[in-house]
Amino acid sequence: MSGPALPVLFDPSYSFDWPGHVFPTDKYRRTAEELVRRGVVAADGLLRPRPASREELLRVHERRYLDLLDAIADGRAPWDPRMEVPVSRTVVDAFTLSAGGTLQAAALALERGAAVNLGGGFHHAYPDHGEGFCLLHDAAVAVEALRAEGRLRRALFVDLDVHQGNGTVACFRDDPEVYTFSVHEEDNYPWPKEEGSLDVGLDSGTGDRGYLEALDGALERVAAEFPRPDLLVYVAGADPFEEDRLGRLRVTREGMRRRDARVLRFATEQGAPVVGLLAGGYALRTDDVVGIHADMAEALARWLAAGRVVPSAP
Ligand SMILES: [Zn+2]
Repeated sequence: MSGPALPVLFDPSYSFDWPGHVFPTDKYRRTAEELVRRGVVAADGLLRPRPASREELLRVHERRYLDLLDAIADGRAPWDPRMEVPVSRTVVDAFTLSAGGTLQAAALALERGAAVNLGGGFHHAYPDHGEGFCLLHDAAVAVEALRAEGRLRRALFVDLDVHQGNGTVACFRDDPEVYTFSVHEEDNYPWPKEEGSLDVGLDSGTGDRGYLEALDGALERVAAEFPRPDLLVYVAGADPFEEDRLGRLRVTREGMRRRDARVLRFATEQGAPVVGLLAGGYALRTDDVVGIHADMAEALARWLAAGRVVPSAP
């Protein structure tokens, strides 16, 4: 690939241990390895993030909640079952680091046109609690930090995870400068859904054709309602995939690649830089999850290298 190289944020400690949990956290490390194998990034070209600071987290999360996470992590408070996932110091540190990674990726996307964090997309985290395997809302932390620094005004979330990004809506409720667009499976967690800027809830079993048609139609509406954002935050969940265990939208690998291409074509039309985030993915074979995430990052790298014009459609 000639042209500018895609900044790729990653840290090995994104992959922590949740024994027996459906969330395959080793997908982060394996996606990084896959991108090196494909030549998208050099092994020594991966950028190591710094953790989000307490001040950065506090722009999104309530102090009481952050204190509770720390207390649980340090064994001073009992675990809260609403968190759904084991909470330890390692886990809290991993989420904090991932928020820093998304923040740095978003900042680099503003500077260079695109970047990816091989983590993040924790769109079910609320200001005052965590749920849906998400403890800290990395992307909200990133947007708020960049706004506080005066580097960003209007942000567009394109959330194509199979689950609606309820936490994102909660973080930016009534905020006219952040548009939350989601295409998800209607009959799936979360219940109830939050009311975002534009929600497209699809039937289970929709498949490639219906999925891509719905995405195309919705992107036209996004363009009309929130044109030319300063940053497109792409929450590129891998769980619309046909073999996912927690989603039933039945989109093929090829359909997932076409989805990414449509988002990038839209970003070109809107002149928007893109930060890519991984979000969910629970396929029977973790290889598929890794492949879908790597396809997204590679598409983003090609898009950037080609001068932010979508290369020949896959
Ligand atoms: Zn999901």
